[in-house]
Amino acid sequence: MNIQEERTTLTATAGEGTQQRQRPTTRTRRTTGQNRRVTVKAEGDRERAPRQRVQGEGTERRQGNRGPRRPQRTNTSVEKQEQTPRTHVRKDKLQIIPLGGLGEIGKNMTIFQYGDDIVVLDAGLAFPENDMLGVDIVIPDMTYLIENKDKVRAVVITHGHEDHIGSLAYLLKEINVPVYATNLVCGLIEGKLKEHHVKAKKLQIVKAGDEFKIGCFKVGFIQTNHSIPDACAIFLETPVGTVVHTGDFKVDQTPVDGKLMDVHKFAELGNKGVLALMSDSTNVEKPGFTPSESSVGPAIMRAVAEATGRVILATFASNVSRLQQAIDAAVATKRKVVVLGRSMVNVTEIAQERGYLTVPEGTIIGDDEMNRYRADEIMILTTGSQGEPMAGLSRMSTNNHRTVEITPNDTVIISATPIPGNEAAVGRTIDNLLRQGAHVVYGKDRGIHVSGHGSQEDLKTMLNLVRPKFFIPVHGEYRMLKKHGELAVSMGIVKPSNVLVGDNGQIFEFTTRTGRLAGRVPAGKVFVDGLGVGDVGNIVIRDRQQLAQEGMVVVVMAMDRASGTIVAGPDMLSRGFVYVRDAEELLSEAQRRVDAAVEKCEMDHIKDWTTIKTVVRDTLGKFFYEKTRRRPMILPIIQDV
Ligand SMILES: [Zn+2]
Ligand SMILES: [Zn+2]
Repeated sequence: MNIQEERTTLTATAGEGTQQRQRPTTRTRRTTGQNRRVTVKAEGDRERAPRQRVQGEGTERRQGNRGPRRPQRTNTSVEKQEQTPRTHVRKDKLQIIPLGGLGEIGKNMTIFQYGDDIVVLDAGLAFPENDMLGVDIVIPDMTYLIENKDKVRAVVITHGHEDHIGSLAYLLKEINVPVYATNLVCGLIEGKLKEHHVKAKKLQIVKAGDEFKIGCFKVGFIQTNHSIPDACAIFLETPVGTVVHTGDFKVDQTPVDGKLMDVHKFAELGNKGVLALMSDSTNVEKPGFTPSESSVGPAIMRAVAEATGRVILATFASNVSRLQQAIDAAVATKRKVVVLGRSMVNVTEIAQERGYLTVPEGTIIGDDEMNRYRADEIMILTTGSQGEPMAGLSRMSTNNHRTVEITPNDTVIISATPIPGNEAAVGRTIDNLLRQGAHVVYGKDRGIHVSGHGSQEDLKTMLNLVRPKFFIPVHGEYRMLKKHGELAVSMGIVKPSNVLVGDNGQIFEFTTRTGRLAGRVPAGKVFVDGLGVGDVGNIVIRDRQQLAQEGMVVVVMAMDRASGTIVAGPDMLSRGFVYVRDAEELLSEAQRRVDAAVEKCEMDHIKDWTTIKTVVRDTLGKFFYEKTRRRPMILPIIQDV
């Protein structure tokens, strides 16, 4: 075991994390409980080595020193990374480089580069997996963009979901370039940037149908349908041909906002000839068409009409068409609407301001006015449809909500299906609501939710309209990308050799006639924890997991540096390892062993701290494992006196 206790003393300076580099440091600080100066020598901040990339080579190297341990359960999804020279830009070639969204669902970001011009499409985030302890969000590794800062001309955004705009503030902090997006998206972005104290150089509202020049590219926005208004596909006319990126989409023949997908534009581009299509693979495993958003309205109406008391409806805040249909049902049944949850309040306000949500005057009331109405005159719109512990519905379900207490007369409508990974949390929320006696309407068969992503027939429609020469499936895990490729081939539209499946960091390189995988740029997950961006990497996460699962044992001793004698200690203390009162025997035997080990070092005239620490760690590590089959983190601390 080689745990770097020194790391614990490095000041985790928020914000400047990304600037930190490898440098051996010597720091003095006071340890708690000991009012003596302690010099702690840091061996160098290795885990931050190559630009905080999660799977940087530094991380791999470190792993080797850690000695025998149980199989790691960290990030099995982390792909191996190649380092490539950064001189792969060729004047006559278009390079498409996804930094996120390939081999995963989330943190979408794609680079289009020709010569000295780069356009970035989307800047999204992903939510951490359960084993990423303490991580708030995950964003793409933007090293390549930062290194090519002066070439970046603009960011274009397909739609306003977090996995498409969630890392924009982090990008703009590094490279402040103009951002182009539709009206609602700009509203959502403005709020986000304000939170991060970032001022966009230019936030340009565009409409579907707009076309303009950015560097050597002509860029155009095309109306599609999705689970948020004004979702667009984006096409780029490049010197080697046209590329179409669908963004997230489905084909909705009866969208609630009446904005039909612009099939004509896709067909027009297809007729003129499209070099490459990049298309959403999220629902490629689902046969058939994804139902229209407007099919949800009657189902919600039915559930609301049947409710004898209050209606509490939970859905995704950003699904404005869903909110519209819920509000319509409330109006039809003469209910007032109370909006709860920060994001729900935020989106309803922005959507109303910008004309995406039509609400008759006096319909929305404050939560403080709720008591003036009978239960059957109220509909509550809330967040928490994914069982998020801090969101409205989950709090209500455990009787922890500020204003709403569930009663047996309530009807709760969950107008969403759990995103993979959230099933258990959603299940728990439903259980808790039922325990409180509420009537809960949920599940696929009730028709109260449809997906915003196209199923196989939607995807085929897109392929058929665009008829690309090359096809790059995007937005999906690897198997989905593969399947989407097969779908394109099965239609006879794309040659098998022209289906290009890659992962994040892959360079897809095109000339007017050819397309191929050509090298890589750095890509991976950057963890954001509090204000720190990228300062938490795999090693920190592994330590957190070890601490969480096995606890820790600290061994403190004081050494007279000149003579090499231990003048105090070793003293042991533990946290989260064993319950000390019930483990006296174990701990006193451990104490005896560590005493003996340190004594032996003294007798052998070993003055080197690293060696002594290793001896302590090995001795205790072996002993604890023998006796308990546990591997607590062991932190030897030597004080210089
Ligand atoms: Zn989306
Ligand atoms: Zn998405």
